[in-house]
Amino acid sequence: MYTITLLPGDGIGPEVVAGAMQVLQAVQERTGVQFVTREALFGGCAYDATGSPFPKETQKLCQEGDAVLLGAVGGPKWDALPVEQRPEAGALLPLRKQLGAFANLRPSLIFSALSDASTLKREVVEGLDIMVVRELTGGVYFGPKHRETLPDGSVKAVDVMEYSTNEIERVARVAFDLARKRSSRVTSVDKANVLESSRLWREVVTSVAGEYPDVELNHILVDNCAMQLVRYPQQFDVMLTENMFGDILSDLASQLTGSIGMLPSASLGGKVGLYEPIHGSAPDISGQNLANPIATIMSAAMMLRYSFDLPQAADLVEQAVAGVLEEGYRTKDIMQPGMKQVGTKEMAELIGVRL
Ligand code: NAD
Repeated sequence: MYTITLLPGDGIGPEVVAGAMQVLQAVQERTGVQFVTREALFGGCAYDATGSPFPKETQKLCQEGDAVLLGAVGGPKWDALPVEQRPEAGALLPLRKQLGAFANLRPSLIFSALSDASTLKREVVEGLDIMVVRELTGGVYFGPKHRETLPDGSVKAVDVMEYSTNEIERVARVAFDLARKRSSRVTSVDKANVLESSRLWREVVTSVAGEYPDVELNHILVDNCAMQLVRYPQQFDVMLTENMFGDILSDLASQLTGSIGMLPSASLGGKVGLYEPIHGSAPDISGQNLANPIATIMSAAMMLRYSFDLPQAADLVEQAVAGVLEEGYRTKDIMQPGMKQVGTKEMAELIGVRL
């Protein structure tokens, strides 16, 4: 029996989380595993109800469960709030920090039925299967920051990018362990020609690689990596990188697959894993049964694999998604001529039935 804390959040969040729950219900029926779910307020809706985007009660539930499944947070309604009360800065970042989730896993996997949905040519993306491992709790996003007024009256803003040996080692191990279960190749991305934090990054990753003689390690500069991702993305297996580079590169890698609505993520490191789609709350389509629930359903599959150690159940979900796509069902964001358009609820139902 596993306890899942559900944080549906804002916008399309509740719709896609409901879709994932429908599929997990089917997993329960098929495998006999039992899931207990507890739902909590998180993000803009939590601010409206309690005055805090990450209420204490939600923090407690997140710590107590076996895993957290999150939809998305944010929207124009909360954009004008002070930073610490906004859903992203006041809820998402503290949640990741509290869970000790220092490694963010983002698979960029192309389903063969969708090879034509990418903006790149089919032959460039076909068979693409990259796992981006992004350091999530360090670097410039969490380093000291301040502003000061200079004697000439202009304002200077400072963000500090800092990394310690420990922070690099632990995320590097996650990447090397994952590579062993895949094609045994790690590409570490940095900017060692310019940044001191990147020089340390490269030294430490090279030293950790010594513990994994069966895994091949390459280093690449982040600018070249961005270029290679659109030129020849099939060359990558596991891509390991620091927080900000990973933020940018994983969005780039996700677009190779066609739609942001397809891609899951896992944030690991602490006792409780966090699983969420990579997309935001999509206010433009919320409440219209238009959102693609597959990213959240695939996030639930990652939860089965990484938090619950149920690889067969995860395989079942992933195969059901591939099967429904093969049969020609599409949500609007991935719709192609000759295919059958369905809504959020219908897509989740089809995947659940196919399990
Ligand atoms: P977004 O990801 O919400 O939407 C970008 C575009 O992709 C929109 O056109 C949207 O309709 C589409 N889209 C996104 N998810 C989709 C899905 N599942 N199915 C179909 N189409 C989908 O990004 P944005 O518009 O930049 O941000 C909207 C809000 O979400 C903002 O408040 C932002 O801060 C927040 N946000 C939250 C998270 C998070 O909760 N992790 C991440 C990114 C953005």
